[in-house]
Amino acid sequence: MSPSPASSLKIAKFGGTSVATAAQLRKVQAIIDADPQRRVIVPSAPGKADAKDTKVTDLLYLCQQIAAQGQPLGAVWDGIAKRFTSIASELGLKLDLRPVLDEVRTRIEQGANADYAASRGEAIHGRVVAALLGAEYVDAADVVFFDRAGRLDAKTFAAIKARCSGSGRYVIPGFYGTAITGEIKTFSRGGSDVTGAIVANAMDAAIYENWTDVSGVLMTDPRVVAEAKPIAEITYRELRELSYMGASVLHEEAVFPVREKGIPINIRNTNRPEDPGTRIVAERDPGHQVVVGIAGTKGFTVINIEKAMMNSEIGFGRRVLDVFEHLGISFEHTPTGIDTMSVVVSDKQLIGADKASKLDQVVEDIQATLKPDDLKVTPGMALIATVGQGMNHAVGTAARLFTALAKARVNVRMIDQGSSEQNIIVGVEEAELAQAIRAIYNEFA
Ligand code: ADP
Ligand code: ASP
Ligand code: MG
Repeated sequence: MSPSPASSLKIAKFGGTSVATAAQLRKVQAIIDADPQRRVIVPSAPGKADAKDTKVTDLLYLCQQIAAQGQPLGAVWDGIAKRFTSIASELGLKLDLRPVLDEVRTRIEQGANADYAASRGEAIHGRVVAALLGAEYVDAADVVFFDRAGRLDAKTFAAIKARCSGSGRYVIPGFYGTAITGEIKTFSRGGSDVTGAIVANAMDAAIYENWTDVSGVLMTDPRVVAEAKPIAEITYRELRELSYMGASVLHEEAVFPVREKGIPINIRNTNRPEDPGTRIVAERDPGHQVVVGIAGTKGFTVINIEKAMMNSEIGFGRRVLDVFEHLGISFEHTPTGIDTMSVVVSDKQLIGADKASKLDQVVEDIQATLKPDDLKVTPGMALIATVGQGMNHAVGTAARLFTALAKARVNVRMIDQGSSEQNIIVGVEEAELAQAIRAIYNEFA
């Protein structure tokens, strides 16, 4: 299904740093005023005003923990309340926040759960943003619903559409909704991105604008390559590959609701609204750029199994994976060669409920059931995904990648050309991760 061509409605989600201070909110106001089609606004709770600041959401989780220990909320709560009241007064808003602040405080003191407490950052700030923009406030609890399994209930879409059917502006706070029990429930951290995507789907928007503090998805993590260039256009699938490997600009689950309706996402910078940002679309013209982005994460272990003639041993691969399945371990990749098979596992998967490593058990079970000629375990691995649609077909791409790594003296420990043809994954030692990303970036940027 594609959005109706008549739709020109824009959904604008603003992240924590975009709404952190009165000065930031003035930028938000200018962005909204500049385009009458920006009619539904989804704000986060105030994020960090500067590097030393703490997100309101984190302070609210802290309050809930303090209350659970029977301690007074004291200065932590006062800091939160002051944050909201001073933003409202700096903006000159005629908005009495006292009743809602008192209610939230009382409910947290009386033992409200963590989801309730955390969601109040968005719930309260939504009122501030609505007052600033002269928009109607819609409590997300009245329009976003979760089902018995904790997944989004499809009735959400109709509820949003019905509630926002007028011609004016609406503000729907991000991050939360109502569980089947009637209690407040949140998405996982960073979940205002998900709310924005759901609202875009419900309203059949022409575009989902996601306003943040960078001018789009950058080709790689700016903490590794400071001058990393923004990506002009990327497909939903390519972005998914990058986010899975750690590019954290957009919540992983935010793609699905918009992809279903072919609604493009536009990542924009609140501090530089003149920049075009990144468009995330269903299909793109690959042009000259084979590689769109590079992402890497630490924390993997490779288990390498060697056995002569394993290729002719029917069921060998299945029995290897059975070992992992029986121990409740999911795997990331299984590159194979003649007589060798590797299994790459995230270290998080190797920690048992008792916090002890399950690795010894893996080794023991593989030895016992598969009798390999050799079994090698390499901990401390980082994986790097170099992503671009059709890159596996592009002549010489792999050669360029490996030459760049060799020149940078990076030791490649594992290679997996994913069957998706969207990426090449390499495994390197954790200590060489940044160096490897820089080498790949310089080759393809
Ligand atoms: P918001 O609060 O607006 O939702 P986030 O902090 O969730 O913003 O996401 C934006 C941040 O993501 C950037 O400030 C940047 O530090 C980080 N980031 C990590 N990888 C990338 C990347 N490849 N491109 C852009 N930003 C990235
Ligand atoms: N405020 C929430 C968080 O900090 C949700 C969000 O910002 O998207 O995780
Ligand atoms: Mg975010």
